[in-house]
Amino acid sequence: MLQALTRFFRPRRDLAQLELAFSGGTPHNADELLERLRQLGLRRITCCRLTRNRNVMVSFAGGTLRVHEGYLAAPESVLRAIVTFVEGRTRADRREAQRAIVAFPVRSPRPASRRERTHPDDVEMAAQLTGWHARYNARHFDGGLKPIEIRVSRRMKTRLGHYTAATAGGEAAEIAISRAHVRRHGWPEALHTLLHEMVHQWQDETGHTIDHGATFRAKARAVGIAPYARRVLATRPGRGEGSTTLGRRAARKG
Ligand SMILES: [Zn+2]
Repeated sequence: MLQALTRFFRPRRDLAQLELAFSGGTPHNADELLERLRQLGLRRITCCRLTRNRNVMVSFAGGTLRVHEGYLAAPESVLRAIVTFVEGRTRADRREAQRAIVAFPVRSPRPASRRERTHPDDVEMAAQLTGWHARYNARHFDGGLKPIEIRVSRRMKTRLGHYTAATAGGEAAEIAISRAHVRRHGWPEALHTLLHEMVHQWQDETGHTIDHGATFRAKARAVGIAPYARRVLATRPGRGEGSTTLGRRAARKG
């Protein structure tokens, strides 16, 4: 009986191995990943680069695709989602793909960089911003956003503020506002930036992609702020124009 069972199962296992070999197995570098994605239907991309930026999962512009190295270990369903993110015909398809990509917990071999802390002299400013977060939460979001302690950053120079989603590794979500921005542009502008980042928080907490797309623009208008990524719109399209990025951070720029 045992003999018969073994005989019965062996060919099936061989078949499974054959199937694995056919589908190419786990890619180990950018070229193998590109080959794998092309097998799954990727057409318009000719160059693939691996990145280590923990805030960006997938991004493409022209024929170049940038993918966080953690996706080398992703299962086929997630790799198919990357293909749909690039090639998808309908917005609904692409959105479903985005969810699948973001849901995959990316592991980076590099340790997480230590987050900047609010400078002791900026604690008062941070406390005021945190107070405004609570007020705006009640006024514009029915109190539905999670309470967040706002950080004041002395490192941010071109960015005015950002929202960063929590990581699978246990790093909490955060909103940071540039100290230079508060000092240079004043409180009304800084509060505008805070509300902008709160719209990203709302996107994150309600399962939307964190970006400046249609959902962002509609909610930004609803809470009464400018629906743009930039405070001052450039008269010419910037260099970043035409690139599509899927990440866990969005920033407002000056
Ligand atoms: Zn933004």
